[in-house]
Amino acid sequence: LRGLMMDTPLNVSAAIEYGAEMHPDASIVSATIEGGMHRTTYGETLPRVAKLAHALTALGVKEGDRVATLAWNGYRHFELYYAIGGIGAVTHTINPRLFPEQLVYIVNHAKDRVLFFDINLAPLVAKMRAHWPKDMIYVAMTDAAHKPSGEGLDGILVYEDLLAGQPDSFAWPRVDENAGCSLCYTSGTTGEPKGALYSQRSVMLHALFTLTSGMSSLGSGSTILPVVPLFHVNAWGLPYTAPIVGINLVMPGVKLDGPNLYDLLEAEKVTSSWGVPTVWMGLLAEIQKRGRKPEHLNEVIIGGSAAPRAMIETFETMGVGVIHGWGMTEMSPVGTLGVLAMKDRGKPLQQRIDLKARQGRRMFGVELKIVDEAGHRLPHDGEASGELFVRGPAIISGYYENAEASAKALDKDGWFGTGDVAKITPDGYLIIVDRTKDLVKSGGEWISSIDVENAAMAHPGIAACAVIGVPHPKWQERPLMVVVKAAGAEPKKEEIIATLEKAIAKWQMPDDVVFVEQLPLTATGKVSKLTLRKQFADHPLP
Ligand code: ADP
Repeated sequence: LRGLMMDTPLNVSAAIEYGAEMHPDASIVSATIEGGMHRTTYGETLPRVAKLAHALTALGVKEGDRVATLAWNGYRHFELYYAIGGIGAVTHTINPRLFPEQLVYIVNHAKDRVLFFDINLAPLVAKMRAHWPKDMIYVAMTDAAHKPSGEGLDGILVYEDLLAGQPDSFAWPRVDENAGCSLCYTSGTTGEPKGALYSQRSVMLHALFTLTSGMSSLGSGSTILPVVPLFHVNAWGLPYTAPIVGINLVMPGVKLDGPNLYDLLEAEKVTSSWGVPTVWMGLLAEIQKRGRKPEHLNEVIIGGSAAPRAMIETFETMGVGVIHGWGMTEMSPVGTLGVLAMKDRGKPLQQRIDLKARQGRRMFGVELKIVDEAGHRLPHDGEASGELFVRGPAIISGYYENAEASAKALDKDGWFGTGDVAKITPDGYLIIVDRTKDLVKSGGEWISSIDVENAAMAHPGIAACAVIGVPHPKWQERPLMVVVKAAGAEPKKEEIIATLEKAIAKWQMPDDVVFVEQLPLTATGKVSKLTLRKQFADHPLP
C-alpha cells in the first residue's frame, strides 16, 4: 500500500531558499583573496545565487553538466554550490593542492564544462590549461578590477561581470532527487583518484542527519568557521546545513596559520570551528602564546584523522568542547560524531576525555559493522577488531564512471568497505584502530600507529608525531616514530620511550625515534604516511 504523501524531491535549492526566508540576517563573512573582509547575509545571497544560475544557464550549462571549482572558502564558492546544484548541474570541487597529474586526470575524467577559480590560483590554471578540455570555459571568481591576466589566461570570464544585469530571482526546477549534485574525488594516495558523486537527496539527507547529532555547533545562532575546505567533501556538509539552521559562517580564505586563524576567530566572535588535527596544532601554539583561547570559541570539531588525546585534553581544559568525528569522502563524509552518550555526560573530565578520544558514535542514517577476514560479523564488544563496513543513503554505491573500482566497493550485502580497522563498544563508540595500510604488521601482530602516536603526544615536548612501519628482516615490519619537537623543547628519545612505556606494551614500542622539522602532509592536510614510508624505507633500525 503506497502512502499518500506528496512526491516532493529533496533538492538543495530548498536549503538556500529556506535560509534566505527564515534566517535572512544570518551572516556569511569572508576573508577575501583580493584582500579585506566581505560581509553578506543569506537574505542577500539568494538573489546573487539566482543571478549566477541565470549566468550558468546563459553559458549553456544544463542539468547533469559538471561545473568545476578551484577555490578556497569564500562567499562566491558558497554561491556556486547553490547556483550549480539549484539548476540540477553538478558542483565538482577540486582540491588545488593535488599533484598536477591528478588535476589533469580528474578534470578530464569529470569532463567539466566550466571551471571557476580563485584569482590566486590563476598561475595554476594557466599552467594546467593545455592539459584540460579545449572547450572548457574559465571564470575568475572576482570583479573586473581584479581580473588576472597574462600568458595562458586569455579569454577568461569574470564572475561579477557574469552576474551583472541578470534577474535576481530564479524559478528553481524540480530536479530528480537522485540526480547527481556534487562530485568530489578521493585524493588517490594509491592509484587514480576516484569520484564520489553525491545526489541532491544524499546531500540533503546528510545535512539533516548531521543536524540530529545534538552538536551544540549546529544550533541556531552559532557562528562557525570551517577550516575544512569547501573543496574537501563539501566542507563536511556545512554549506548545506548552515542555511537551514541559520548558522553564521566565517569563511577563512587562504590564510590558515595559527595567528591568522586566532585573529579571525576572535574578531568574528566565532563559537565553533571545524578542521583536521594538523590545523589545530598551529592554533593551539598561538593560544599558548597569547595566554587565552579566542573568547567566544566553545566547540571544535576534529576529524579527518585521529585527534590525539592530548589535543582533546588541551581544548577541553580551556573550556572548548571537542567533538571528534570520523568519516570519509565516500560517506558525504560524516559517519560518527563524538557527542557523548547521555549516561557519560556527567562523568569526571578525564573519563570524558578518554571517551572523546574515541571516534564517536554513529550518526542517524549510518549503519556500522566490523567483520573478520572471512567477512563474518564481529561482536560490538569493544575488544574484537576487524574491517569496518558502512551502509546508508548518503554513502556511495559505486564510483563515478569507474566500473573497476565500483565492482570492489560493496560487499555482497551492499555494505561499503572503508579500509579502516575498528572496534565498536557495546554502547556504540567507534574506535578506529588504524587504516589497513597504516597498521604496522610486526611478526603476525598488528600495531596501531594511532595508539602509539596518541601515547607519545602525552609528552609536552612533542608538537606532532607519526608512526610508520619500516621493513624488518625478522619481523616483516617494525614501528618507527617520526617526531616534530614543540617550539623551544628538546625532547630526548629516552624520555619519549619512557612516556610510551606507561601506555603501550613492549612489543608495540617503536624501534627508533627520529626528529624532523615538519611532517609531510597530503592534499587534505593529513599526515602523509605514504611519503614517510618512502622516505624512511631504508632507515636502519638499531
Ligand atoms: P583522503 O584522506 O584520501 O583524502 P578521506 O578524507 O575520505 O580521504 O579520508 C577518510 C579516512 O580518514 C578514513 O577512512 C580514516 O582512515 C581516516 N579518518 C577520518 N577521520 C578519522 C578519525 N577521527 N580518526 C582516525 N582516522 C580518521
